Amino acid sequence: MPLELPEHFNLSLPRRWCLFDGPRVLLINDQLPTAEADDWPLANRQLVDQQGGHNLYSADLIGPAPVGEWTPLRAALTALPPEQTAGVARAAQLRQFQHTHRYCGHCASPLTQHAHDQGKRCPSCGQLYYPRLSPAMMVAVYRGEEILLARSPHFMPGVYSALAGFVEPGETLEECVHRETREEVGVEVRNLRYVRSQSWPFPHSLMLAFTAEYAGGDIRPQPGEIEDAGWYHIDALPLIPAQLSVAYHLIRHTVDWLRQGKPA
Ligand SMILES: [Zn+2]
Repeated sequence: MPLELPEHFNLSLPRRWCLFDGPRVLLINDQLPTAEADDWPLANRQLVDQQGGHNLYSADLIGPAPVGEWTPLRAALTALPPEQTAGVARAAQLRQFQHTHRYCGHCASPLTQHAHDQGKRCPSCGQLYYPRLSPAMMVAVYRGEEILLARSPHFMPGVYSALAGFVEPGETLEECVHRETREEVGVEVRNLRYVRSQSWPFPHSLMLAFTAEYAGGDIRPQPGEIEDAGWYHIDALPLIPAQLSVAYHLIRHTVDWLRQGKPA
């Protein structure tokens, strides 16, 4: 059953296409294709979002791309204008859900698409499926005018970031912040403040960013997880992650906030 369109969608708007080839997205001069792709041979078309006067569709291109370059999703998100990245992240996650949820995990019957939302239902046993989201927290721990930054072994050389980790079943976000901080660097924190969030389609994270005040403990990096960690003065930060990431915005926010004397 095809998905019904939300009432606010205006189908007469021009189309913007998020075309996939496995984990890669087609870009033409660092932009998503627009009218040029309207007549290309496409499969699995799905209306994803409305953005900047365009309807964003995702689809699989059949055959070779007439123009443009297949670009890994992460590089595409970096290259695209910031106002387009959320739509592409949504397209990638919905596509992932469609590909991994064709059959019921209980009884193996083919699933049917809900008409009113992104969910699917098993017509045999009634089991419901929804696109998966994995909440994860990120925390900038501060002490005076210093921030605790750490690097994991898979980071680019020289890059340090805020602490991060996935929320476990049965755990609140606040409990996760305390646990991950304790596990990764052996430090206790207090006065948690929520800052912002970001959808991160690798493959389906929802990152929630906090600041937290240092409350005690000496830094002890967790073997295998944290290669190095330390306190950095806000005027002498090491390399931090790229501007696309929530980590960049959390660290910049924390620096500005500490510099201004932590206004409420
Ligand atoms: Zn079933």
